[in-house]
Amino acid sequence: MSKPKRYTITTALPYTNGPIHIGHLAGVYVPADIYVRYLRLTGNDVAFIGGSDEHGVPITIKAKNEGVSPQDIVDKYHAIIKQSFVDFGITYDNYSRTTAPIHHETASEFFTTLYKKGEFIEESTEQLYDAEANQFLADRFVVGTCPKCGNEESYGDQCENCGTSHNATDLINPKSALTGNVPTLKQTKHWFLPLDKHEAFLKEWILEGHKKDWKPNVYGQVKSWIDDGLRPRAVTRDLDWGIPVPAEGGEGKVLYVWFDAPIGYISSTKEWAAREGKDWEPYWKDKDTKLVHFIGKDNIVFHCIIFPSMLKAEGSYILPENVPANEFLNLEGNKLSTSKNWAVWLPEYLKDFPGQQDVLRYVLTANAPETKDNDFTWKDFQARNNNELVAIFGNFINRVVVLTNKYYEGLVPNPGAFSQEDLDALAAVKAYPDVIASSIERYRFREASQELMNLARLGNKYLADAEPWKVIKVDAERTKTIMYVALQIASALATLSEPFLPFTSEKLKGILAYTKNSWNDVSEKEVLLPAGHEIGKAELLFSKIEDVTIQAQLDKLEASKKVNEAANKVVEPQKDTITFEDFTKLDIRVGTILEAEKMPKAKKLLVLKVDTGIDVRTIVSGIAESFKAEDIIGKRVTVLVNLAPRALRGVESEGMILMTESADGKLVFVNPDTADVANGLQIS
Ligand SMILES: [Zn+2]
Repeated sequence: MSKPKRYTITTALPYTNGPIHIGHLAGVYVPADIYVRYLRLTGNDVAFIGGSDEHGVPITIKAKNEGVSPQDIVDKYHAIIKQSFVDFGITYDNYSRTTAPIHHETASEFFTTLYKKGEFIEESTEQLYDAEANQFLADRFVVGTCPKCGNEESYGDQCENCGTSHNATDLINPKSALTGNVPTLKQTKHWFLPLDKHEAFLKEWILEGHKKDWKPNVYGQVKSWIDDGLRPRAVTRDLDWGIPVPAEGGEGKVLYVWFDAPIGYISSTKEWAAREGKDWEPYWKDKDTKLVHFIGKDNIVFHCIIFPSMLKAEGSYILPENVPANEFLNLEGNKLSTSKNWAVWLPEYLKDFPGQQDVLRYVLTANAPETKDNDFTWKDFQARNNNELVAIFGNFINRVVVLTNKYYEGLVPNPGAFSQEDLDALAAVKAYPDVIASSIERYRFREASQELMNLARLGNKYLADAEPWKVIKVDAERTKTIMYVALQIASALATLSEPFLPFTSEKLKGILAYTKNSWNDVSEKEVLLPAGHEIGKAELLFSKIEDVTIQAQLDKLEASKKVNEAANKVVEPQKDTITFEDFTKLDIRVGTILEAEKMPKAKKLLVLKVDTGIDVRTIVSGIAESFKAEDIIGKRVTVLVNLAPRALRGVESEGMILMTESADGKLVFVNPDTADVANGLQIS
């Protein structure tokens, strides 16, 4: 499209059953905010739209588990999510929620329009039903084997392993998530969106029309779905939490959460326009509006196939120009997981790293999962802060501000004649707005953030090479020129860093006491910070993050891992029943380890001398990987003494020490917990 008149930028509506974590931020919210801030800085008309997704099955399950109402759950998380976005500097024009009346009204109207136009298939079909729970099983109420990839934990509407979206009846071996029962089939009426009918349009619009400008990961996924053949998808559910179906026979049914959620972008825009006294319609219906959806890769099918088919069927809406979906971010080598608490939660980060929003924004951008899944590690977080933000960006600004105050009482000096180095540096600065913009406009935010850091590098190197702190001793005039050039670079950084490091940019503009430059001014204006202008005092923009701070975060994750391991430990099924006589055949005694030494050339074996109360005997035990010989001398143990002796590596072992395992797989002695139990006493 030629230059758009306005932009409508949406971000995936976060699901209100938990707070936001770094995976959401890296995949959706940080890139969208960079894009929007850049658009505003370059003078565009933008509506940045978000909101909470508050319907759907997981919320009803969570409410049931916690013994509260679904409304309680969504009220709680909507407030947490909304506040954390504000605190993190995500600059929505409007952040709404799908339980808002304006959304119910908008989604209801949308359905009615399609219904009246005959865009749905109305059909009674057999759906999975749990008689015990008296409930139809759609979406997350049912788990089974994914027909595409074989994942045994696939949900009724989508497989989280391969991303395939399917109907609940497609699952192999379905089981009710409510009772564990095998569901039966029961007749029920639903409304289906015939996606097959829209196949030709989708092929032409995406596969032909967006071959070049959509990201290969997005294009590839869409192509694979279309190539597999599209089928009608039910857009209603037998549930009591959601937007009631506004059609005859719709009693007791609600709109499918994935039908109503994307309409949330429209209702949030309406809410914003009403508040601002604007007309919402051009933002959704004018062909000169550029609509962009920022989402994660698990939402591609809904934003590239289902929602566009809905918009097309409705007839009066524009379609997205781009859907720059990101891949997934992992954490310390493992998949992020809400249920396993394997995440860095935004509210916790804000508490643990006060005033350091930009560090996380920078690290998530510099390492964004744009073309493939990527890994967040705390070591990388520390390194990027200390080696880039502190050592390059912060160091440059600090030197410029401190020296200007020291030499000129904070006044920007008058430059003399520029040297070739000065002219080269000033010319290089002028190129950055276009270089960074070109990356941002192609949704390459990693690249853009690195170009910004290159500008800071340029400033740092210019100052290090020019050495004003040495020149001042011999040439006061030359020093003025050097400092003037350095101040121009600092001013360019204050403007161009805003999309990426908004808190830093604001602080820096405060220090320079100058906010008059727009994005394009950095290339176009001869002077960014005029001679004679007075700047403020130095303030640190970034501070070094110490090892102990990083270790505390790693310890937190380690604790989560331990809890998960303990929770996931598979308990062996009970063995066959034995008689009391069988049990009495076992002679188990209390004993003490008197001596211990490693069995030569055996990794696992220790040779023990054990006082069993009956005698002192040799027992060979496979515990060398969990214990050092010298550490277990004197240990009280439990010994099976009448086990038939057997030779292990030529040493006769006369019994067995009873052991179990800790959560992290280490062996643990099963021993009497009081010291005054004498050796030789029987355990019965
Ligand atoms: Zn699958």
